[in-house]
Amino acid sequence: MFEPVVPGVGRLGILFVNVFALGEPGGPWLLVDAGLPGSAGVIRRAVARRFGAAARPEAILLTHGHFDHVGAARDLARKWDVPLYAHRLETPYLTGRSDYPPRDPTMGGAMAQMSHLMPDHGYDFDDRVRELPADGTVPVLRDWRWLHTPGHTPGHVSLYREADRVLLAAEAFATMNLDSWFAYLTRKRELSRPSPPFTFDWVTTHRSIAKLAALEPKVLAAGHGLAMEGDHIAAELRRFTESFTPPRRGRYVGSPPVADEDGVGELPPPAHDPYMWRVAAVVAGLLLLVLARQRR
Ligand SMILES: [Zn+2]
Ligand SMILES: [Zn+2]
Repeated sequence: MFEPVVPGVGRLGILFVNVFALGEPGGPWLLVDAGLPGSAGVIRRAVARRFGAAARPEAILLTHGHFDHVGAARDLARKWDVPLYAHRLETPYLTGRSDYPPRDPTMGGAMAQMSHLMPDHGYDFDDRVRELPADGTVPVLRDWRWLHTPGHTPGHVSLYREADRVLLAAEAFATMNLDSWFAYLTRKRELSRPSPPFTFDWVTTHRSIAKLAALEPKVLAAGHGLAMEGDHIAAELRRFTESFTPPRRGRYVGSPPVADEDGVGELPPPAHDPYMWRVAAVVAGLLLLVLARQRR
């Protein structure tokens, strides 16, 4: 079910990732991101409850193309017959022209450990994909604008509604600590770096967070974690920006790959990952346990 964040913004949490619905029931609306693979049914049921049984969005806006944000994009776009909007620099990974830089799990933490089982390839949604309007407007919803916030991926975008200073950060940063196993259980609200194994450029990530902090938002909702709001949010985000540091080690720390309209160019050599097989075995075991419990 979509939980209300503020008027015109609903958040649907799917395991550890969020999908958003922008717009009010009865009017035109957009789906922002498309969750994990296999979540089309969950999303459609939530949409039916919020917007009505036959409802469909005008379009799906993809903040970036990672598997946990586009998992049901193909199924939903086909079912609803709607376009998929994304930034021009993200389209290589959505139209089969390029893969993302390979994930880098070497800096450790929960997401890095899980990432051994997660895909890092691009997708091909072929003729469904449209570029976001170059002037920063968001299709259909006049009160929203998109901002290019690269770093996590080359064509990553965040969304902002100036009228009540609502920021959908997507994965420019997170509102939970993606490195902590504990945080996946408690959902503690905490401004945190974007998913480390999938972030390819940390200096650019920092710059994008600073750009968002300068907006002085009052409401924050990110792709990972619960929403945060209040007059203290702007100061908290500014402090987070000021104290932001890239991971101490990692394949892309200090030598990010270069990406352009055609996708990713030359890559730095892989970093040594001493824990790979041990971690993969433990994570596979844990996932099987969770699945077995859900089946019951
Ligand atoms: Zn991502
Ligand atoms: Zn993500």
